[in-house]
Amino acid sequence: MRKIIEIKLNPSEANDPVRWKQIVSRILSVPQGRIYHIRPIKRSIDARGNITYRLKLEAFIGEHMPDSGKIRPPILPFVGNKRPVIIVGAGPAGLFAALTLIKNGLKPVIIERGKDVKARKFDISGLNRGEVLNDDSNYCFGEGGAGTFSDGKLYTRSTKRGNVGDILRIFVEHGAPDEILYDAHPHIGTDKLPNIIANMRRTILESGGEVFFNKRITDLIIKNKKIRGVIDHAGNEYVSNDVILATGHSARDIYSLLQSKGILLQSKPFALGIRIEHPQSLIDSIQYRMPVRGIYLPAASYNLVTQVDGRGVFSFCMCPGGTIVPAVTGSAEIVVNGMSNFRRNSPFANSGIAVAIEPEDWKEFDSYGDFAALAFQRSIEHNAWLAAGKGFKAPAQRMVDFIEDKVSESLPVSSYNPGLVSVDLKEVLPSFLSERLKKAFIDFDRKMKGYLTNEAVLTGVESRTSSPIRIPRDEVTLQHVQISGLYPCGEGAGYAGGIVSSAIDGVLVAQAIK
Ligand SMILES: Cc1cc2nc3c(=O)[nH]c(=O)nc-3n(C[C@H](O)[C@H](O)[C@H](O)COP(=O)(O)OP(=O)(O)OC[C@H]3O[C@@H](n4cnc5c(N)ncnc54)[C@H](O)[C@@H]3O)c2cc1C
Repeated sequence: MRKIIEIKLNPSEANDPVRWKQIVSRILSVPQGRIYHIRPIKRSIDARGNITYRLKLEAFIGEHMPDSGKIRPPILPFVGNKRPVIIVGAGPAGLFAALTLIKNGLKPVIIERGKDVKARKFDISGLNRGEVLNDDSNYCFGEGGAGTFSDGKLYTRSTKRGNVGDILRIFVEHGAPDEILYDAHPHIGTDKLPNIIANMRRTILESGGEVFFNKRITDLIIKNKKIRGVIDHAGNEYVSNDVILATGHSARDIYSLLQSKGILLQSKPFALGIRIEHPQSLIDSIQYRMPVRGIYLPAASYNLVTQVDGRGVFSFCMCPGGTIVPAVTGSAEIVVNGMSNFRRNSPFANSGIAVAIEPEDWKEFDSYGDFAALAFQRSIEHNAWLAAGKGFKAPAQRMVDFIEDKVSESLPVSSYNPGLVSVDLKEVLPSFLSERLKKAFIDFDRKMKGYLTNEAVLTGVESRTSSPIRIPRDEVTLQHVQISGLYPCGEGAGYAGGIVSSAIDGVLVAQAIK
């Protein structure tokens, strides 16, 4: 017999499965010996009042869990001799598209500009040291895509577009911790993601798919408005009547390629701002209302949103116990983002704070036509680079100093490895944006007393929150509105934002290919 029980426990009890058994036994009036297993189904923290964990547990009474609860790697058909489908880009959209194609009896051929995930680590290290940027292998490009060296947050609002549970299960099948299946805000962490990505590649190869690295796609073969294949930077041709274009929001060369071939794309609203970093202990003490969080509570996070002068300002991709990283992909720009380990154990809490960007904001760039939003984004990244001395250092300002228009005399220790340069961030951000940020910070401090502090530092710029361009596709066939067989997919096409929603989009696009 199985029984579902919902209980509230204090943090130490919630981390003690022996205690679960005692409590379940008492609630169900069943001897402990008859409870063979207890499996968590949902876990969340309620930080209002006394901090408690809410647990939803499944108890197996007098019966064993099937498969002893272990999720095993998937058994997929062999597709090596089946019709090939080209996937450009091995990010979440491309990888989940590949796994879905295999399930549907088609052969995925992934072509990726960057290196395999292991080799990619070396280039990331060089970048972290502020030494050199490899244009094809960095925080955004390479096997696993932009989400590989990240916090691996798997929370999404795109629950209506696809089955989030299926996506999480596939991650677990490839080595992600089981917790992601029941945590209210699941995350994997940058220390675990590379192995999971490599396992996914193994599944694809063992099923007869192909994966090419270090092959940047530079051209599309199109005949009579139908896609016939792609060409890489060395002139190699890859032939197929179906091409999934899953190149992410930073593949500006792909946008230029499409434009040069007269293929329709459009500017779209996105969001831009800075990344803020507080001491994690400060965020813990605000959120948990205790000086030290202890060993049973995770590094605290937050989710802040407000409206300033008719525009949304919100926290984005918060990384508790994380680090700020250089997410640049080209020369003469500074872009930052955040990542953390599974244990989220660094002493810093960072988060993007972004302002919604609408067409009226990029008016000055209207001469760039469909690239106006991208030109605006690029100009701010360039400002950041100029302000911080034309290297990999990032422009920064203490939070209160920013509000009071003072250049900071000193900066706090930061997790951003290449280093910070004290500047007036108003030199980097347009005034409509910095003014909204200032007002938002004051409002955030009302919501989280102590958030507004000079111990916090703003680092510029958080500009790649989502794509500033959409590659429009037919709502039913998911093919490009002009080119049949071309499937714009994932974040770069403007149809997703984040790991899970990009993965879901990959699944949807693959399912659309018959
Ligand atoms: C540092 C960082 C941290 C992040 N943290 C999180 C997080 O915690 N949670 C979350 O949900 N999201 C996070 N994101 C965002 C998330 O990574 C993206 O939303 C997601 O990866 C988009 O998936 P995608 O497959 O559409 O594109 P991408 O992941 O960008 O993948 C595109 C792939 O295409 C390849 N490519 C590009 N151009 C070409 C070409 N011409 N030829 C061949 N290959 C090409 C790229 O190398 C890349 O591998 C983070 C992003 C970064 C940079």
